[in-house]
Amino acid sequence: MARQLKSPREIDAIARAGSVVAKVLHRLGEMCQPGVRTLELDAQADRLCRELGGESLFRGVPGRGGPFPGNICCSINEQVVHGIPSERRVQEGDIVSVDYGCRLDGWCADAAATFIVGEIPPRVRQMVQATREALEMALGRCRPGVLWSTVARAMQQHVEGQGFSLVRELVGHGIGKAMHEDPKVPNFVSRELLVRDILLESGLVIAVEPMVCLGGYDIKVLSDGWTVATRDGEPSAHFEHTLAIVPGGVRVLTTEG
Ligand code: MG
Repeated sequence: MARQLKSPREIDAIARAGSVVAKVLHRLGEMCQPGVRTLELDAQADRLCRELGGESLFRGVPGRGGPFPGNICCSINEQVVHGIPSERRVQEGDIVSVDYGCRLDGWCADAAATFIVGEIPPRVRQMVQATREALEMALGRCRPGVLWSTVARAMQQHVEGQGFSLVRELVGHGIGKAMHEDPKVPNFVSRELLVRDILLESGLVIAVEPMVCLGGYDIKVLSDGWTVATRDGEPSAHFEHTLAIVPGGVRVLTTEG
């Protein structure tokens, strides 16, 4: 599989884009309070990104629903990913998944987080926590020489061991000059992955993004052509970091730095 390894200097450049992404997500997390419209989150993301010298990545990405109209993807409750910012107001009891990517000096970074708004059922809180932990688990296990399937297996066992499920149809990805590069990075072990496993090597930059469902992992695309939601209507959470495999371990590139 064609994949481009990045030099330390290129990884530094992706980390600068990642710092913008992390600052935007931090700010949006603070804004995720009852009453805020998702369009306000979207506008804030683009404003802050421009202030920091970057350019939002998702706007205009082609898809079945036409070019993506937002700067962020904002997916609430049973929505998994790719939600379109709108006049909808965030409410007490919502979980709000925000995915954001930016390009800075020609390099892309991509991250996501699910924000909890007020009181939510304990089981939903546990699901959000399990998703965050799955990503942390991946960060702890990635290093040169490791096969990705062993990382994916650990994430899968952590999530499924608590009775939750991992989305199958959407996966993480390589990232660099383009938002989506090889390889595809699944959050679960499939026969296909075992046949064509990903050997982690220094310089590989990937976006790891577990998407976890409280119920089943089946998803559907809503009539807007973009929003992905669970088929059973149960809530879903999403955490993502862009990371580089470096000698001895991993460097998370979507941190505020
Ligand atoms: Mg991504």
